[in-house]
Amino acid sequence: MTEEALPVAYVGLGSNLEGPRDQVTRALSELDRLPTTRLVSASPLYASTPMGPADQPDFINAVAKLITRLSPLALLDQLQALEQRHRRRRQRHWGPRTLDLDLLLYAQRRQTSPRLTLPHPGIGERNFVLVPLADIAPDLKLDGVPVARLAATLGDDGLHRVSPRK
Ligand code: ATP
Ligand code: CA
Ligand code: CA
Repeated sequence: MTEEALPVAYVGLGSNLEGPRDQVTRALSELDRLPTTRLVSASPLYASTPMGPADQPDFINAVAKLITRLSPLALLDQLQALEQRHRRRRQRHWGPRTLDLDLLLYAQRRQTSPRLTLPHPGIGERNFVLVPLADIAPDLKLDGVPVARLAATLGDDGLHRVSPRK
C-alpha cells in the first residue's frame, strides 16, 4: 500500500498534571514513533478550562493527524499504553490526568462498542477538540459539515492558543 492510501486517524491530546505542555509535546513525538505510524501534522497547543469537575487545573490540548497501518483497536491499545507510560491514574470521571489520548476519527470508520466508539462521541460539542482540529483539517467533514464551520459555531469560550503552529 502506498503511504497516500493508508488510513488517516486524528487523535485528541489533553493534560492538566505534571507539566501539561511538556506532557503533550512529548506525546506528539511519541505518536510519531508508534509502530507503522507517522505523525503528519499537529495543531498548536491550546489551554482550556476543564470540562466536568471545575476544581482542577486548566488543560493543555492539541490534535494530531496520523497515518497508520494499525487497525483502530490496535491504535487504541497503543494510545492507552502511551497514557500508562505517562503514569496516568484513572480516578474520577473527567478528573485531572497527566495524559488523555482520544481517538477522534479513524478514516471514515463508524462503530459503537464498549472499548471504541468512532467518531469519538464528544467531538461535536467540545471546542478544545474542534478548534485545534480545524487548524489542521478545516475542510474535513463531520456529518457533511466542514470542521472549520463547526468550530466557528461552537466559539472559543474558555479556550486560548498557547503556542504557534509548528
Ligand atoms: P471522554 O471519552 O468523554 O473524553 P475520558 O477521555 O475521560 O472521557 P477515559 O477514561 O479516557 O475517558 O476513557 C474511557 C474509555 O473510553 C476507555 O477505556 C476506552 O476504551 C473508551 N473509548 C471508547 N471510544 C473511544 C475513543 N474513540 N477514543 C478513546 N477511548 C475510547
Ligand atoms: Ca477525553
Ligand atoms: Ca480518553
